[in-house]
Amino acid sequence: MAELTFEHIYKQFDGDVTAISDFHMDVADEEFIVLVGPSGCGKSTMLRMIAGLERITAGSLYIDQKYVNDIAPKDRDTAMVFQSYALYPHMNVFDNMAFGLKLQNLSKAEIKARVYNAGHILGLGDYLQRKPKALSGGQQQRVALGRAMVSNPKVFLMDEPLSNLDAKLRVQMRSEIIKLHQQLKTTTIYVTHDQTEAMTMASRIVVMKDGCIQQIGTPGEVYLHPENTFVGGFIGSPAMNFLQGTISEGHFRGGNQLALKLPEERLGNLKTYEGKAITLGIRPEDLHDEHSFPGSVANVTIDIAELTGSEVVLYTHIDNQAITATVNPRRHFAQGDQIELSFEMGKAHFFNPNSGKRIK
Ligand code: ATP
Repeated sequence: MAELTFEHIYKQFDGDVTAISDFHMDVADEEFIVLVGPSGCGKSTMLRMIAGLERITAGSLYIDQKYVNDIAPKDRDTAMVFQSYALYPHMNVFDNMAFGLKLQNLSKAEIKARVYNAGHILGLGDYLQRKPKALSGGQQQRVALGRAMVSNPKVFLMDEPLSNLDAKLRVQMRSEIIKLHQQLKTTTIYVTHDQTEAMTMASRIVVMKDGCIQQIGTPGEVYLHPENTFVGGFIGSPAMNFLQGTISEGHFRGGNQLALKLPEERLGNLKTYEGKAITLGIRPEDLHDEHSFPGSVANVTIDIAELTGSEVVLYTHIDNQAITATVNPRRHFAQGDQIELSFEMGKAHFFNPNSGKRIK
């Protein structure tokens, strides 16, 4: 188990590609940190630098207070689980898991004990003699986890370990990895581009974009208090609505038809925006198809109504601004219908339209 300290880490590739800029944070022992962001934001590069597979261009990395920038991968006490599983096809499950241990010259008895223990925890006890091709995708992923476990690393590094699995198995393996972490408590850095995985698995989420950290927080913090429009739009599905408008006389006004009363408690900090452009962010579930919030109602036109089962996702517009709402399916909605949407303005977020930063 270990703490990690990232001090102003940068990664520059040849050809002037800056993959990571000023990555700076502390990770406590036993944390499950999820790095999340769109393709190319630098997640895998960051993970590979922790493993020692990529050199750090500038900054310092400490694992348990030990400076590891120049330490070889095999001496870092980390174990990586890859998206592709990276199993040896000609070896059975036992040998796949034991491979790294044999290189460490551990005794046969010790290797057997560790592999049997991991196999037991992962439910692979009956499959130890099988070759990878005779296993399902989920079982192969468990072998990859087992191979990481047997080395008793200080840190688990997981690079999109579930993305080759089908949707149902992904959900199942998600909770298996969480349970495994509860049991082993090994500090984990987990990379994904899937915000649902980040929300459901992380003790803290690191949201990244273009190599830069956008926000670090618990799933609740990043969901309820996004630091900027990128985080607001990336975390949550369907995505947060963003409406452009101005503040005037206690209202947010977006075009001719949209006037939403601001909550009393927000008037103070929005005062400096009087008469100026502003971005309002509101989540689809904070819009309601009933008159629950007088003064904050808009007449919108339905473009698409998607029944997902427990709710209906309404894709609508007003004054050329798109608005998505998730509502109760107790009535029928059809394309072209005009409906009134109530905005729960106490849950609205306000952002500077130029910087995208949250107005606190
Ligand atoms: P994905 O989710 O698609 O795997 P990612 O967030 O993991 O993306 P990285 O693979 O870390 O992103 O890549 C970050 C940036 O660094 C990208 O712009 C990528 O093109 C660039 N990059 C990665 N490896 C190299 C390399 N060896 N040489 C040059 N540029 C690289």
